[in-house]
Amino acid sequence: ERFTIGLTGGIGSGKTTVANLFGELGASLVDTDAIAHALTAPQGLAIDPIRDYFGGEFIDANGAMDRTRMRQHVFGNPTARHALEAILHPLIRSETVREAEAATGPYVIFVVPLLVESGTWVGRASRILVVDCPEEVQIARVMQRNGLQRAEVEAIMAAQASRQARLAVAQDVIDNGGSNADLPHQVRELHARYLALAGGH
Ligand code: ATP
Repeated sequence: ERFTIGLTGGIGSGKTTVANLFGELGASLVDTDAIAHALTAPQGLAIDPIRDYFGGEFIDANGAMDRTRMRQHVFGNPTARHALEAILHPLIRSETVREAEAATGPYVIFVVPLLVESGTWVGRASRILVVDCPEEVQIARVMQRNGLQRAEVEAIMAAQASRQARLAVAQDVIDNGGSNADLPHQVRELHARYLALAGGH
């Protein structure tokens, strides 16, 4: 059985930044968000089923899913949301497994933004690693990065698991409440521990 890490954290917590540091040390990364995007990009495996179920108006001129239109359609429409998830989730899952099986690193890190919310991940990864930072810091970073208003960021965060709920399932935590410079030594320390644990698998 492969040694696997599920890496998560709230919006703007620093998941991508931290995952890339692990990648530099040789860990294999499987990014579930990137997989979901690729599935709904032109030629993506989800495009035909989305066209069949929702109609051609949800596919743009380039052959990608029209994200804005789909977001508006599933907003407040649980039937449509579940239908979309029923198309995407099995495809995301099989592609995730395929990439993990093809990975050549000493261990695999799955980057899963909604790991805690989706439930199915807890217990599937050998360990869960949470990138943690105070909510105020998260809000400031996302406002800055995405040019959003405070209330917009707060609304996204309200739809995600709480900081406490995330920390409750974590075996490992990286503190990203400070500067970027605080990350490499935390990542090196965990990487050494993961190598040791992976060696016993
Ligand atoms: P999302 O869930 O939105 O994809 P994420 O958890 O992957 O976000 P990152 O994209 O790594 O988070 O970081 C969010 C933003 O905050 C980025 O603009 C990043 O450059 C910045 N950032 C991350 N860590 C720090 C830090 N310690 N100090 C300052 N800025 C940071």
